[in-house]
Amino acid sequence: MSGGLTIGKVAVIGAGTMGLSIAALCADRDVPVVLLDRAGPAGDRAGPARAAIERLPGLRPAAMKRLEKAALITPGNVEDDLGRIADCDWVCEAVFEDLATKRDLLARIEAARRAGSVVSTNTSGIPLRDLVRDMPAHLRRDIVVTHFFNPVAVMRLCEIVPGPETAPDVVPAFEAFIGVRLGKGIVHAKDTVNFIANRIGCFFMLMGLHKAMDALEAGASAEAIDAALGEPVGLPSTGLFGLIDLIGLDVMDFVAKNLAANLPQGDAGRAYLRFPAPVQAMAERGQIGRKAGAGFYRMGKAADGSRVRETFDLRTGAWRAEAKAVLGDRERTARDLIVSQGPLGRLAWDVVGGTLAYAAGLVPGIADDIVNVDRAMRWGYAWAKGPFELLDELDPLDVAQRLEAARQPVPAMLGVLCAAGRTRFYDAEGRAFLGVDGRMHPQT
Ligand code: NAD
Repeated sequence: MSGGLTIGKVAVIGAGTMGLSIAALCADRDVPVVLLDRAGPAGDRAGPARAAIERLPGLRPAAMKRLEKAALITPGNVEDDLGRIADCDWVCEAVFEDLATKRDLLARIEAARRAGSVVSTNTSGIPLRDLVRDMPAHLRRDIVVTHFFNPVAVMRLCEIVPGPETAPDVVPAFEAFIGVRLGKGIVHAKDTVNFIANRIGCFFMLMGLHKAMDALEAGASAEAIDAALGEPVGLPSTGLFGLIDLIGLDVMDFVAKNLAANLPQGDAGRAYLRFPAPVQAMAERGQIGRKAGAGFYRMGKAADGSRVRETFDLRTGAWRAEAKAVLGDRERTARDLIVSQGPLGRLAWDVVGGTLAYAAGLVPGIADDIVNVDRAMRWGYAWAKGPFELLDELDPLDVAQRLEAARQPVPAMLGVLCAAGRTRFYDAEGRAFLGVDGRMHPQT
């Protein structure tokens, strides 16, 4: 790609949840899009992509502000219309999360696109190096991962991940288009499994399920667990079980398999790749979350016919009416919760403390600096504070001491902080952050 290329026309391949939303976002910003999906039957070859566009008015949350701009999206199919990508500046691949399907398509995109265009793959976590292995050098130079988050119109995050051979001017071109024109928050991630947000977010969820079982055994209710792992620690009010109900145990299972194949040996996440037995049983009987009508919660019917929310009791396997949890006065902040005695305090330390320690051990492995990690969790998982901002709230030196007392290793960035003689990852105004070199750097 030549330096200074501006993206004026886009091709999106795959008109599913993500591809349609990315196409809609571009059109909403007055950028014409060619949207290709699989071929429909004779006489309606563009049917699948056209049907996707016709779904736009009914989507909630809305995928675009100005629905009339959907006219800028031209539907087609990958059998007859791949030639139409030749005048596009950015070709965005957004088909199923399957290595072989994506590689097949990338090879066909490479043959059809013009020199000077850039390509991206919207994978959730397949390493780019696996996607482009043995592909033409021309493609390996012009490609990045663009990892948008669902729903695209709402979630601010787009992780950009270059491969080892991506040319230096390609990332800035994407940064300008996706960051400025599409208005997304760009985070720079490295080419490691699940990149930044999903690496940490999936650890939180998979490890959280195991620790939540301990808390349930110790007498905490599912509602109390969700209340504790929500607002007090700056996480969305869905907590843990509510969040997994939204995502679905089927997706979590898929994520766990990808992690099993790609997590480095010795990674702390390897201990949590299997669901606890009662959760595995839920997955096997199809009780996978909202999309199936039931997960850890469901909407049931009361005796008078009214709809009531019900909670699944993981210990007994029975449904019961939801009982909203009220946290105590000393359980309303992350700090108070963690020092509090009892099942919720232990849970908060295990899950939140454990996730922060995990994140602190991943820099510089998954990102050059802590700022990209904090932004990824705020913009992609709607955390009020990123892991290092939350560590600053908790007191990083105290967390390091607690880890030492529990005979757990002190993770890399906490080690950097201690060795640098500092007490916080950010300065008081939040203008400078601690780098992996132990020095403070200005935030840009
Ligand atoms: P989806 O199942 O909703 O849509 C995939 C689309 O690709 C379908 O319309 C399908 O017909 C089409 N397709 C499949 N093979 C094709 C081919 N060979 N040629 C043309 N079209 C083809 O999937 P999705 O949820 O939109 O996910 C797309 C990608 O985005 C995946 O890699 C996924 O991991 C990633 N992702 C998904 C989410 C999410 O929450 N859904 C979030 C971030 C990233």
